[in-house]
Amino acid sequence: MNARPRAACVVGWPIAHSRSPLIHNYWLKHYGIDGEYRREAVSPEQFAEFVNSLAAHGYVGANVTVPHKEAALALSQPDERARAVGAANTLWLDDGILRSTNTDVEGFLDNLDASAPQWHRGLENAVVLGAGGAAHAVLYGLIRRGVGRIVILNRTRSRAEVLCRRFGGSVEVGDWGDAAVLTGAGLLVNATTLGMAGQPELPIDVAQLPGHAIVADLVYVPLLTPLLRAARARGLATADGLGMLLHQAVRGFALWFGKTPEVTGELRALVEADLGSSTG
Ligand code: NAP
Repeated sequence: MNARPRAACVVGWPIAHSRSPLIHNYWLKHYGIDGEYRREAVSPEQFAEFVNSLAAHGYVGANVTVPHKEAALALSQPDERARAVGAANTLWLDDGILRSTNTDVEGFLDNLDASAPQWHRGLENAVVLGAGGAAHAVLYGLIRRGVGRIVILNRTRSRAEVLCRRFGGSVEVGDWGDAAVLTGAGLLVNATTLGMAGQPELPIDVAQLPGHAIVADLVYVPLLTPLLRAARARGLATADGLGMLLHQAVRGFALWFGKTPEVTGELRALVEADLGSSTG
């Protein structure tokens, strides 16, 4: 009998820091599913061989993290959102075909929906800080939800311009440090690494935002970033990076193990405790 449990993994280089095993193994246990989720440290040189023989390695699919997300896209059959974002973070085998998607898009949107329901109703202007991989997913998600105007601010303006050309239409580029754009912003998203433990704080004053603005930060170490702390002190609604991390994991689990899992307070507390114990 073929009784081998279904297995998935997260592939990165390095990979020790990933919280994905904690999340997926919690769900496996919670739902009583006979499955496994492991970490795989795979170097860029070995990545193509690894994903091309995922089944031989015993896996039905994988999460992909730094630095492999673009390679994962190129080596698989991506769906529309992975193609639009330009990176894949979730792979699965579908009748022998290696397919991919980018779940940061729904992670970002589902977390906003959970943290600030109705956030997109009547939202005219959003400001996105950053132009890296995460900003791609955020922009795609905001456009899908019909946000009227999105201004990208990035330290390296040329990278924001690339993003603007990629997504067109409702996307504009502003000057990094131009606080004036904040005065009309109903949503501010930090998709830079600023505010992360060990990084400088964002040079942003939330006092410039209107009173109805929502502030989302993708950074989740620390959980309460200086930006989120300042926004909450002003009484603004917020969505944090841990919420996005948990929500982006849902689709992969459903694809590999056949059950759409729930993001619960208990799971959040588990990952919070783990982040707290490793970041002091
Ligand atoms: P990335 O591709 O390396 O992009 C980094 C961004 O930060 C770029 O826009 C970069 O600007 C900007 N930046 C870095 N140092 C800066 C500085 N000193 N001053 C001003 N801007 C600076 O990284 P990413 O993958 O997009 O990730 C961005 C953040 O999102 C990370 O903190 C990551 O952990 C987080 N993230 C969270 C989730 C989640 O589930 N919560 C998912 C994905 C990412 P330049 O273009 O000028 O270099």
